[in-house]
Amino acid sequence: MTYSVTVAQMRSHVRQLCEANRIAINYDRHASASYREREIWIRAVRSSRAYAVALHEIGHILGRYQLSRATLVRERHAWDWARRNALRWTPEMRRHADRCLEHYARQESIPQHKATLGGPLVSQFPSAGDVAHSAANAPANPLTPANGIRGVR
Ligand SMILES: [Zn+2]
Repeated sequence: MTYSVTVAQMRSHVRQLCEANRIAINYDRHASASYREREIWIRAVRSSRAYAVALHEIGHILGRYQLSRATLVRERHAWDWARRNALRWTPEMRRHADRCLEHYARQESIPQHKATLGGPLVSQFPSAGDVAHSAANAPANPLTPANGIRGVR
């Protein structure tokens, strides 16, 4: 594939995905997602890597197995969703996804990290960030998450 996707196209793709699936976008240095509130926190999309991370966070809401209690399962499927829905999945994006998954795989192998799930399903990636501003206009009745994407591709 030689066609290129511009950063502006990536940015508007993320916006369209969130709009079509009623996901609120907040901007924060630390990326995270709230499945329950249908909200994501991302950095402004200024690179393909930021685009990959934004899609990954959306994947925590629309991807498969996001109610699994196993962090690694949720992470893997959020990346899977990102890869399947990206306008373009570059080697750099793939490497970043691999690195993040390795990070979680290491955590899972540490016993004290295994039992820390439960409570609201909030993915934190790669580390817990202070969620300062939260625009709280997520719908009371969220749409059922579909596999794959509704709306724009
Ligand atoms: Zn994640």
